[in-house]
Amino acid sequence: MSGEKKRLFIRTYGCQMNVYDSGRMTDVLAPFGYAPTDQPEGADMVVINTCHIREKASEKVFSELGRLRVLKEERRADGKDMILAVAGCVAQAEGEFILQRAPFVDIVLGPQTYHKLPEMVARAERAAASKTGRKTGVGILDTDFPLEPKFDHLPEPVAHGSAAFLSVQEGCDKFCTFCVVPYTRGAEYSRPVDDVLKEARLLVGQGVRELTLLGQNVNAYHGTSADGRELGLGDLCRELATINGLERIRYTTSHPRDLDDALISAHAELPQLMPFLHLPVQSGSDRILKAMNRGHTAADYIAKIERLRQANPDLALSSDFIVGFPGETDADFDATMALVQTVGFVQAYSFKYSPRPGTPAATMEQQVPENVKSARLSALQALLSAQQDAFNQSCIGRDLRVLLDRTGRHDGQMVGRSPFMQPVHVTAPAELFGQVVTLRIVGATATSLAGELV
Ligand code: SAM
Ligand code: SF4
Repeated sequence: MSGEKKRLFIRTYGCQMNVYDSGRMTDVLAPFGYAPTDQPEGADMVVINTCHIREKASEKVFSELGRLRVLKEERRADGKDMILAVAGCVAQAEGEFILQRAPFVDIVLGPQTYHKLPEMVARAERAAASKTGRKTGVGILDTDFPLEPKFDHLPEPVAHGSAAFLSVQEGCDKFCTFCVVPYTRGAEYSRPVDDVLKEARLLVGQGVRELTLLGQNVNAYHGTSADGRELGLGDLCRELATINGLERIRYTTSHPRDLDDALISAHAELPQLMPFLHLPVQSGSDRILKAMNRGHTAADYIAKIERLRQANPDLALSSDFIVGFPGETDADFDATMALVQTVGFVQAYSFKYSPRPGTPAATMEQQVPENVKSARLSALQALLSAQQDAFNQSCIGRDLRVLLDRTGRHDGQMVGRSPFMQPVHVTAPAELFGQVVTLRIVGATATSLAGELV
């Protein structure tokens, strides 16, 4: 431990899991004198928390590392140092290659080993002190999948505001043919129920009102409780809903296959469970869903949505789509458009298929030409945007409960999330910051709402 404050800059790419991991890396390093800063210039340590889902992910990491190298050399010229670490899924996938191609990097660590950061940083600090004038980094690599989960070694979480992420599940055993996650995040793992409840209580005790439970397949959650029972996500939500002061529960990302009855009925029973579900479908064509190894059909998906809507008629849906998966024909794409028309989404992420090295789909025949992918993506996005816009407009005149958790750009303005994840802007007195308030919706754009205090 050290009394002297050092500056830590973390750049986060990708999903909410990475945002959560970056927060936990900050927590892990805090007792060692590292305090967050919002720019890499002048930082004593820089971490890039990478995402492998991004297209050309590793090239982008190397070009960012090139820019950081200049900063590191400037610091060294001043007799200081900057520990440079690459974390996340690109680190997991590229490991040793990062140290070869960017030898000025000090630490490469995967998503399962960041609880060991203090030890790695201490080694890097010692090496820096003993080798002034060197050009290379320390070259520490840890991309293991340890048997003991990292969660057992993390310090207590620190809340930063009234909404927080809580990781309950990690990894994936589903091996969709387009996806790198099973290779970078490892096998599926669920945290024990009591660990999750303890972390939730600590966060709520620090003023958190909304928790988003995270996992690559969050609804595959099957954690063990202290009395030896195995709880699914629905039952975990029931346990969390007993925590006084926790007003809202969300979870992401779910897989259609794991959406079971207990979770569906939790949507009917628990007022804390927000009526918004991100449920990626990827395609509306059974042929493509099979080639993707998704393990469900379009009809299975639609049937689950119907049951969810019976449980909570107000439920709003979001999804992920991939267009131009190898072998996708016009008819397959039309099936995706038809599914979107049938379900109706209030928000969505859509991507052109892009091959990820090492995944089965990358070497499939019949890769779809780029111009066809682009045309399909534009058509799909036009339909999804029209649905989002129509939903936002339909909210005008409604009274919605909004958690005011950010300040807006204008004086006195605050921004919060509606139950359906829409950002809502409002002018409100400062004492309402961090509270859930009722707002009358008076305006809507394609991506946000405007509200007034009721
Ligand atoms: N676990 C989630 C599921 O089962 O749908 C998704 C996790 S993935 C990290 C997030 C999204 O990235 C996917 O839903 C998919 O739409 C997109 N994605 C993943 N691999 C892709 C690829 N090779 N090309 C295009 N999009 C991809
Ligand atoms: Fe990737 Fe499929 Fe696992 Fe989601 S379920 S993380 S898309 S392999």
